[in-house]
Amino acid sequence: MGGKLRALAIDGPAGAGKSTISEAVSRELGWLHVDTGAMFRAVALYLLDTGTDTGNREEVAAALKGAEVSCRVESGEQRILLNGEDVTEKLRAEEVGNTASAVSAYPEVRTRLLALQRSIAAAQPVVMDGRDIGTVVLPDAETKVYLTARAKVRALRRFRELIARGEPCDVLEIEKDIEERDYRDMHRKTAPLVQADDAVLVDTSDMTKDEVVRRILSLVHKNEAEPGDPA
Ligand code: C5P
Repeated sequence: MGGKLRALAIDGPAGAGKSTISEAVSRELGWLHVDTGAMFRAVALYLLDTGTDTGNREEVAAALKGAEVSCRVESGEQRILLNGEDVTEKLRAEEVGNTASAVSAYPEVRTRLLALQRSIAAAQPVVMDGRDIGTVVLPDAETKVYLTARAKVRALRRFRELIARGEPCDVLEIEKDIEERDYRDMHRKTAPLVQADDAVLVDTSDMTKDEVVRRILSLVHKNEAEPGDPA
């Protein structure tokens, strides 16, 4: 497509199923799945490990100079490196996610990761998921999806995921966390979570995973066909 980037941008609030769906869709398309939340989580992990006061923007900006985040693809999957160490397995903890949500509001943190995200998408077709992919990171993406679900449904999904991983948790606390995180992500000044004008809204509350995957694949296939092609 003229001027469009061969990429699928998936944005949406916490627990909407972005990672799971992006993973499945990327496998079907043979495109690389790029989970940008993991990059923010790597920065958060660094700030937690170094005891940085994450409420202090200047301290965070100064600490960032010591954090080198990069990506490697292993068996078709994204691995996140922090100063050369593979930290992928350490990123899913709730504390890391909440810290990522807090510090992702700082423009210094976002700028730090933007070039990395764009350079990966320039090198190959990607399914990239996050909060600002369709609006800021890849505004020329060929297909954009805004994936969401009711807050209660998202909380229940995250609860089941944590229980399956053997992490004790409380569903009401998760719901409160999710609502706080959404509020912060939607109301920050820099790159807030918002549906791009040209994104298709997919509410997964009452859909199965397969239905969501099929719906998104049909959007991608439609956009992959050159405009003006005989249908
Ligand atoms: O999606 P995930 O829960 O891994 O993201 C962690 C946090 O990183 C989010 O709550 C959000 O604040 C931030 N984030 C962001 N922009 C992205 C991806 C994630 O601000 N593109």
